[in-house]
Amino acid sequence: MNNQELLSIAEAHGSTLYVYDASKIKSQYQRLSTAFSSIKQLKVNYAMKALSNVSILTYLKSLGSGLDTVSLQEVQLGLHAGFPPERIIFTPNGVSMDEIEAVVAIGAQINIDNLATLEEFGNRHPEVPVCIRINPHVMAGGNSNISVGHIDSKFGISIHQIPHTLRIVKNTGMNINGVHMHTGSDILDIEVFLHAAEILFDIAKHFDALEFIDFGSGFKVPYKSGDIETDIEELGEKLSVRFHAFCKEYGRELALAFEPGKFLVSEAGYFITPVNGIKQTTSTVFAQVDSGFNHLIRPMLYGSYHEIENLSKPEGKKRFYSVVGYICETDTFGNNRQIAEISEGDYLVFKNAGAYCFSMASNYNSRFRPAEVLWHEGTAHVIRSQENFEDLLQNQTLLDFDKKAIEA
Ligand SMILES: *Cc1c(COP(=O)(O)O)cnc(C)c1O
Repeated sequence: MNNQELLSIAEAHGSTLYVYDASKIKSQYQRLSTAFSSIKQLKVNYAMKALSNVSILTYLKSLGSGLDTVSLQEVQLGLHAGFPPERIIFTPNGVSMDEIEAVVAIGAQINIDNLATLEEFGNRHPEVPVCIRINPHVMAGGNSNISVGHIDSKFGISIHQIPHTLRIVKNTGMNINGVHMHTGSDILDIEVFLHAAEILFDIAKHFDALEFIDFGSGFKVPYKSGDIETDIEELGEKLSVRFHAFCKEYGRELALAFEPGKFLVSEAGYFITPVNGIKQTTSTVFAQVDSGFNHLIRPMLYGSYHEIENLSKPEGKKRFYSVVGYICETDTFGNNRQIAEISEGDYLVFKNAGAYCFSMASNYNSRFRPAEVLWHEGTAHVIRSQENFEDLLQNQTLLDFDKKAIEA
């Protein structure tokens, strides 16, 4: 979508909001499908924790996507959006057996990443097919907070625990129908990914009733011009060749699954917020926006970079700004950014605001979470209204201590 379309949506709405461009989600989905078009059974399971609005889910469903979920509530949102249980995979980490049982009852695919859980589950439900999440101990780039394949990560069953895994499977008589890995959030180097894939193929050979191999995600998207992004086309070419060879060796055609979050929705998202004021100090010019890390926490949480532009006056002379929020705590969106000259009331737009932005929003400082708009074929659909004061009070109990004091 272009800046004029974004600005008119912002002005019509008048306050901070998220806008998602459906056509970008679609083109990313198609790019992935095309890169793997030689795979007969390609399963794209959207990792909905990235952006979980139910209309985003129905849109992805219309494109042919399944869902990757990490909580019972995500599974339930998926059902609400009309996904059949068999198109939902549940990949939890550290959840209770009760929660896993609830998802089993729904009929979604279970993915287990802990040997103790695997054994308990196998004893309870030897007949329920289970996928196992492997940790191949490969660093796929990024820092240790977002690369989940390394040795001390809490995710996955270590490749060094395969003998133990096989004993559990044999003793319980359970049915392993998939093997899975999700190495981390930033695949910079395709060779590293292919290396992890080889490890997964090796493990897959131990199971004779597989239906799919799930390569997770971690596709990197560009955040600014010149950024490295995962070369999906190259990955498609190289991994497909290896996958076909593996299936031949295995003796059966398997499904190949991915579960991208960021890749599908990051670039489709725009976060737009008005400027409340400009504050000049002795060292810095602050642009103070009508938002904070309550709406978009990634810069403060991970040091993530979101490109920021002046949507209202893109042609102005560039000046340096630190863009900050209204939260009573440090909440910097970007330091010393060159942005076209900003005045009070201008709208700023933050790019790459589709993934892990709204879904991480909170009510901190008792602020409302903002509205979400889906731009689809030239129409702006409000897919979530801004919260109101009743929403803040919901589920709270007002105890009146003054009254109690009088009675006592
Ligand atoms: C978060 C997550 C994903 C999605 O990761 P992205 O980097 O957003 O693509 C995929 N699989 C699992 C198991 C996840 O937890």
